[in-house]
Amino acid sequence: MIDKVLEYNRNFVEDKGYEAFKTSKYPDKKIAILTCMDTRLVELLPAALGIKNGDVKMIKNAGGVVSSPFGSVVRSLLIGIVELGVEEVMVIGHTDCGVAGINAELMIKHLLERGVPQENIDMVRYCGVDFEKWLRGFDTVENSVNETVDILKNHPLMPKDVVIKGFVIDTETGKLNALD
Ligand SMILES: [Zn+2]
Repeated sequence: MIDKVLEYNRNFVEDKGYEAFKTSKYPDKKIAILTCMDTRLVELLPAALGIKNGDVKMIKNAGGVVSSPFGSVVRSLLIGIVELGVEEVMVIGHTDCGVAGINAELMIKHLLERGVPQENIDMVRYCGVDFEKWLRGFDTVENSVNETVDILKNHPLMPKDVVIKGFVIDTETGKLNALD
């Protein structure tokens, strides 16, 4: 499948398909969006929010969460805010999220089934990784979004003038509900 992507890419560049996407690294809407990597949101979320190339900084991971206060999500947001002009942050969870049901016990079982040795699991745990925290899901998407918003709002490095708000998007209709 990657071969097909590469072939498509060669044609895209030859046909100058990029011309419609020209913009800068600075987000025109001065917004950063933290959301889930869910396949259904790839095009639906930007379309439903009227977001075009160049409008926002988009940060995605499984669940659209901050799993570590000094991990890559907060790093990306701070770079967007301090260096690239982001003034508002939208944390957008979604309905029917595949991350909700995950847990460390189940994922470790699946890792073992995929050939990852138990000794590696033990070593990582010994090195201080809290699997139960790192690989946890969530009970409701609203709670997950509110928790992430709280972490960001109370983060010691977050400038206080940054607006941070939580939302849930419907993966079928694209309807965005604000949380507060
Ligand atoms: Zn999701």
